[in-house]
Amino acid sequence: MKPENFPEDIRPYIIPQHRGKLIYRCLGCKLEYGIKELLYTCPDCGQVLLINDLNFDRLKKIPGRMWQRIFDYRKMLTIPALKGIYLYHEFIGPVIPLDAVIYLGEGHTPVIEANAFLQKKAGVRFYFKNDGQNPSASFKDRGMASALSYLNFLIRQQHVSDVLAICASTGDTSAAAALYASFLQPRVKSAVLLPHKKVTPQQLSQPLGSGAAVFEIPGVFDDCMKVVEALSDSYNVALLNSKNAWRILGQESYSYEIAQAFEYDMQNLVVVVPIGNAGNITAVMSGFLKFYEAGIIQTLPKILGVQSEHANPVYRYYLEPDAKKRKFVPVTVKSSVAQAAMIGNPVSMPRVIHLTNIYNRISGVQKVFFAEVPEQAIMDWALLANRNGHIACTHGGESLAGLVAARAQGIIGESDIAVIDSTAHALKFSGFQEMYFEKSFPAEYNISPNPDYINAPVLIHPKDLERVPAPGKPLKEDEFKKFVKRVSEEIARELNLTKVEKA
Ligand SMILES: *Cc1c(COP(=O)(O)O)cnc(C)c1O
Ligand SMILES: [Zn+2]
Repeated sequence: MKPENFPEDIRPYIIPQHRGKLIYRCLGCKLEYGIKELLYTCPDCGQVLLINDLNFDRLKKIPGRMWQRIFDYRKMLTIPALKGIYLYHEFIGPVIPLDAVIYLGEGHTPVIEANAFLQKKAGVRFYFKNDGQNPSASFKDRGMASALSYLNFLIRQQHVSDVLAICASTGDTSAAAALYASFLQPRVKSAVLLPHKKVTPQQLSQPLGSGAAVFEIPGVFDDCMKVVEALSDSYNVALLNSKNAWRILGQESYSYEIAQAFEYDMQNLVVVVPIGNAGNITAVMSGFLKFYEAGIIQTLPKILGVQSEHANPVYRYYLEPDAKKRKFVPVTVKSSVAQAAMIGNPVSMPRVIHLTNIYNRISGVQKVFFAEVPEQAIMDWALLANRNGHIACTHGGESLAGLVAARAQGIIGESDIAVIDSTAHALKFSGFQEMYFEKSFPAEYNISPNPDYINAPVLIHPKDLERVPAPGKPLKEDEFKKFVKRVSEEIARELNLTKVEKA
């Protein structure tokens, strides 16, 4: 719809103005820094940063009900810059002019209710929000759209030129970074560091296909992260890990979309996310807090962060009920099918602690919870979900397993409705499904396949057929007739089909 055709009271707001005054705020010493320069950590104390809008109060002058209408009407616009995460421009990056926005089709992923069978099995009503349906097939595109739009803005302002964007990755960050950077080539080039043999072949193919420089490093993600940090400390590179607070801003869109999808009614809602480096749960909490503060939602939904037993530092931290006694201890990770979350020392831990405090304090009751799940449950729930119409990745399975565990513990009530983040597309992690079906999981995963879930292709090649077709070598007519007849008979036998007489 053309802007002039919107209702009169909406028209002044339908195209966002770029204003606001964004600053980096240090979570340690609280010092503030301007955004003209790309910062990752506090130059003074080294702590991580979050981006705040010093003029946020101007957004509160517009009533919450009006914001809801603005966002709902904005969905009808055809302007590419506003079709993705910047539909929520005022909350995500109000200083970014629309002509600097990079839109590659990210965001507004579908929310799919589970069928009755699966909901009964899980013991709770739930939906998947399929973030695997983003352009590089994971939620990381939300954060990259923000980070690269900001970089593009800096380039246009001539604050930077010839950017080398760099990241460490468990697979999906590099896929997203390389994709978005390639759109801006040659002014932006990208390099990614991956833990050798700890990303899936599909994930490795993605940055290669986007033309990034790809480096494989011995060790796990935490080791790669240290190398990237050393590079960004000593060289002129733009770090694209979620340490970069612009990533967090973009990923807040996930919360805004959930609010909009549920008509801004957050009563009884639980949002379930897997935790790795903890950037996503940071963004999800931050997003709901901003919408709450602006009066767009009236209650904060519950948040459930889920970790595997093989990579559970955040869960362990919150095991201690007394906040004063909690002490963060990084863990040594073990192999996990939720491989993108296989992180023992999450960079965003200080952000999680900071926002969890605020979130629970504002709610007046505990609303942020953490669960841990065994590898077996991750695989079993992912496979079961996908046998019921979903495309959940292992992290979606991890989240569903966490929801089931939280329901059993009473953290999730009978009338709660959950939205589960399936953070990537199932196809990226099909190798784990293959290991399950072929019973070839190395012992360290602690997974024994459930025969009910195993599936394998059946080769049909009747022994009495002398010749079968091959590419470029068709059969003669009578041979081909025989081939079709014999193969269909075999399939009918395999499937126990009964023969019908056709007139
Ligand atoms: C990155 C990633 C995670 C973990 O998200 P964090 O922000 O690092 O906590 C989970 N699932 C998938 C598929 C990912 O790519
Ligand atoms: Zn500081």
